[in-house]
Amino acid sequence: MSRTTNRPARSAFASTLCAALCMALCAVAAASCSAAPRDRADLVIGTVCSVRILDGGDRRALDAAFERLRGIEASMSANAEGTVVAAINAGAGAVPVPAPADVRYVIRKALSYAELSGGAFDPTIGPVVKLWNIGMDGERIPAPEEIAEALPLVDASAVAVDDAASTVFLPRAGMMLDLGAIAKGYAADEVARVLLEHRVKAAVVDLGGNVKVVGRKPDGSPWRIGIQDPFDDRGSRIGIAELEGGATVVTSGVYERYFIGDDGAHYHHILDPATGYPARNGLVSVTVISSSSIDADGLSTTLFSLGLERGMALVETLDHVEAVFIDEDRRVYQSSGAGKLFKLDNPAFTLTALPSR
Ligand code: AMP
Ligand code: MG
Repeated sequence: MSRTTNRPARSAFASTLCAALCMALCAVAAASCSAAPRDRADLVIGTVCSVRILDGGDRRALDAAFERLRGIEASMSANAEGTVVAAINAGAGAVPVPAPADVRYVIRKALSYAELSGGAFDPTIGPVVKLWNIGMDGERIPAPEEIAEALPLVDASAVAVDDAASTVFLPRAGMMLDLGAIAKGYAADEVARVLLEHRVKAAVVDLGGNVKVVGRKPDGSPWRIGIQDPFDDRGSRIGIAELEGGATVVTSGVYERYFIGDDGAHYHHILDPATGYPARNGLVSVTVISSSSIDADGLSTTLFSLGLERGMALVETLDHVEAVFIDEDRRVYQSSGAGKLFKLDNPAFTLTALPSR
């Protein structure tokens, strides 16, 4: 099986860091500022995280931001040993496991997207994610019997979050939480909060393409954030979103983690909980523009998994949330308010209206 994921490998760490930093710098390329920017990038929460301060704060703000990221990794990663999520998974079918308020908050949010999506988003997808292992060592196409065995364990409605006892319980042995679809968004919100606490006045937070802008740019102009071209290298874009401080741009895409199977097919990391296979609905990416990054992250995966029509219908019911869908024919579909924020400027893509039903 050929390995073609573009996840950051430790061996490629330096070049990945460099590329990520360049991306963060591109994201704010339009910013001409008098204050000296302060940048830092590091591999945390399973991705390259970069923070660029343009105004206010100091090195301690960056220290505190990365400390918070490491704290989130230590509690919420499903892939590392010793995390709270790993303990909850180990206790499945046996015991409720103590979980701090932030872990319970993220799990509750994830459960709310499971409900909103009618199960297209499901944070108990862990057993199926583990079978595929996409983007990790040993990624493979599981046997249909393995998928059939894992699927009954995917059931967000069974998760018991007890705030009085500060515990989380998975009632069936083998159940596994995976917060990979939402934890980066929470982390971006937390980094923004920590930066503001440290008197940062303007900054860009980029956690593996999950971007949040903080405060006002020193020259008073809007923030300009590129939306990734899903067919091209990282940093290439289909257009630009112009945003106020506090906004976030989060993308779920087939290019984030994938491999090409021996059968030549492309297997990506957003799985359909109904089938246990990567969601194949003609989409290649969904970008959400909003103010809360945890919600934008939960939603980007939700909308991808729902597909274009059901996803667009859902986003149109939500206030202060816009979305840009891209399909495999390079057609771009945007929600009704997205045009005010986002301009498509890549001629290889076509802005397309959804057929009315
Ligand atoms: P994102 O990049 O935010 O769309 O999240 C994708 C990640 O979420 C995957 O790598 C899995 O860890 C997890 N995941 C995959 N499929 C789903 C799903 N249907 N619902 C919730 N999480 C998922
Ligand atoms: Mg997501």
